Amino acid sequence: MQYDQLIWIILAAVVACIVAASVIITVSNRRGVDRQPPVEQLPSEPSVEVPAEPEVGLEVPEAAGSRLTWLRRRLSGSNNALARGLADLLSRDRLDEETWDDFEATLISSDLGVAPTTELITNLRRELAIDGITEPARAADVLRRELVKLVDPSMDRSLNLTGTDGKPAVVMVVGVNGTGKTTTVGKLARVLVAEHKSVLLGAADTFRAAAAEQLSTWGERVGVETVRGVEGADPASVAFQSVERGIAAQVDVVLIDTAGRLHTKTGLMDELGKVKRVTEKLAPVGEVLLVLDATTGQNGLVQARIFAEVVKVTGIVLTKLDGSAKGGIVVQVQRELGVPVKLIGLGEGVDDLAPFDPEQFVNGLMGN
Ligand code: GDP
Ligand code: GDP
Ligand code: MG
Repeated sequence: MQYDQLIWIILAAVVACIVAASVIITVSNRRGVDRQPPVEQLPSEPSVEVPAEPEVGLEVPEAAGSRLTWLRRRLSGSNNALARGLADLLSRDRLDEETWDDFEATLISSDLGVAPTTELITNLRRELAIDGITEPARAADVLRRELVKLVDPSMDRSLNLTGTDGKPAVVMVVGVNGTGKTTTVGKLARVLVAEHKSVLLGAADTFRAAAAEQLSTWGERVGVETVRGVEGADPASVAFQSVERGIAAQVDVVLIDTAGRLHTKTGLMDELGKVKRVTEKLAPVGEVLLVLDATTGQNGLVQARIFAEVVKVTGIVLTKLDGSAKGGIVVQVQRELGVPVKLIGLGEGVDDLAPFDPEQFVNGLMGN
């Protein structure tokens, strides 16, 4: 046999092996897909959207621990006025009157509010005087302690997710349009799914079809069912059907997304009251989360007051703290409503929702 003939035979053998191997890989992958359990089909009710095919191997959100590092990174970003003010204070050589005045101005402009600012500065100055501390660097610990006190670590920030009488826990999410309600419902569903809870979403924002569409997209992403009505349907009726379906499907939690168009203010408020009332014919609403956009400052407080008049708000979700938010609003809104900030939104991504923790928050603001 000629030498170059031998080369050709070897080449042909190699090519044949590659082809065979890729065929085997393709076939076994396909078997992998076929082996997925068949998707259980629910009765074809037009208003119920079951994710056609739950995403194979839904990723599990990062553990809380690793989220905190990133929370700090986002909070201490140069956008945050409070964080900047703290950094500025701590970088001064001496704590003189001018430094205090500047610090006071920064705190007020960071949405902390006048009363909490005065309180913080008075306490801080008193404590530092007792210990005779004049260098800012040594003041950091005292400052941290005072800030944590202001954010009030004694408040119960857990979500009430225990259903009564074997029925699902019901959570209503309310707030002005654009604050991040739908996004929060999606992110929260994901967290709950990761905690092995079964979840159902109710699209009670029926004002535009796109709103329900946005929520079902989240549902599909997270692998949970979404109940929705037609455009213009009675939101109370959709909420009712969601809980009804949640009871039948024996889910752990029903999350109800609502509308928030303030231009029909009285209409909206009547509507919210009704959604809650009608829903409670089936199961108690254990948690009413008010979503506020942290970048809107004082405006957020005005909204909080309006909403608190119609529904008993049990927790606040402060979104967009990653943006040009000022952070201080946490303290003001808690005082205003007497209700704790329970969750914070730190971005548009699926994992950008974190439980609110006063110490972590303050550490984040102080850049460590
Ligand atoms: P809704 O009208 O209250 O339901 O608000 P949406 O959930 O539709 O959110 C309005 C916009 O805000 C969307 O573009 C979201 O991606 C964005 N958004 C929501 N939460 C956050 C957040 O925590 N950070 C940032 N940067 N954007 C957010
Ligand atoms: P009201 O308007 O404050 O008197 O509240 P109602 O109790 O009359 O309910 C108003 C709306 O809620 C109804 O038009 C329905 O859309 C919805 N609703 C109330 N009860 C039920 C129910 O048992 N089943 C369904 N599907 N919807 C209900
Ligand atoms: Mg929405």
